[in-house]
Amino acid sequence: MILITESLIQEEYEVVLRFCSTVYALKNWVHAPTGLVLHSSKTSWGLATTCGMVKINSLFVGSTAIIELRSTIRHELAHLAAGLKVNHNQYFKRVANAF
Ligand SMILES: [Zn+2]
Repeated sequence: MILITESLIQEEYEVVLRFCSTVYALKNWVHAPTGLVLHSSKTSWGLATTCGMVKINSLFVGSTAIIELRSTIRHELAHLAAGLKVNHNQYFKRVANAF
């Protein structure tokens, strides 16, 4: 069982981003990815911002929820690729499925 650390979250982000950028070339993403930070929130596991940041809930640190961490990162990267304006529309869902 793997205990999630902040550096593991950064490593997972790099791995997931590398995969997603092979699915959709980065030049076609609405918001170019700029990095990952932790945040504390009672309402969301992840967030994406128009400046390309992915924010991941700090509650992942110290947990073993690696599958959920990966799917949260993929979901937020799909928001960056599809554009934040479209929210969870059909286009977003197509991108999210591809990721
Ligand atoms: Zn979402």
